Amino acid sequence: MRMEKRSMDDVEKKARQKMAERGVKIKDIADLVYFLQKKYHPDLQMDDCLANVERVLAKREVQNAILTGIQLDELAEKKMLEEPLQGIIESDEGLYGVDEIMAFSIVNIYGSIGFTNYGYIDKEKPGILGYLNDKSTGMCHTFLDDLVGAIAAAASSRLAHRAANTE
Ligand SMILES: [Mg+2]
Repeated sequence: MRMEKRSMDDVEKKARQKMAERGVKIKDIADLVYFLQKKYHPDLQMDDCLANVERVLAKREVQNAILTGIQLDELAEKKMLEEPLQGIIESDEGLYGVDEIMAFSIVNIYGSIGFTNYGYIDKEKPGILGYLNDKSTGMCHTFLDDLVGAIAAAASSRLAHRAANTE
C-alpha cells in the first residue's frame, strides 16, 4: 500500500517535471482555462483556473498520458523512432490522429462539454498552444500540444460543472 502511494507520487512529479522541461507552465494551462471560461463566468478568478488545472493533473490517467506523449515527442526529436512512425510524428502528420485520441482520454474524464472546449481551443490555438505549434523552435510537440489543450478543456469542464452546482 505504501509502495503504491509513493510510486503514484513519483509519476505525478515526473509528469509535472517533464511538462516544465518542455516549456509548459501550470499558469500557461490556467490561462487557456480562463480563455475558455471567462465568457460564461464574468467574475472568474485566475486562482480558480489554476486550482482546476491542479486537480486534473492529480489524476493518474492524465499523468500517464503526459509521460507517454512527451516521451514520443522527445524520441521523435532525437530521431530515435523507427520509420514510418519517426517521420509521421516528427512532421506532425495530419492523418495520424493518435495524439488526439490520447487527448480525448483526458477530455473524457469530466464529460462531454470537454469535447466542445477541446475542439474550440484546438482550432484557435491561443497562448501556449501557439508556441507548441510553432515548428520554427526545432522541437517536436506533436503529442504535447493536444495534451495541453485536453488538460485545459478538462479543467474547464470541471470548473463549469462545479459552478453549475453552486450557482
Ligand atoms: Mg498534435
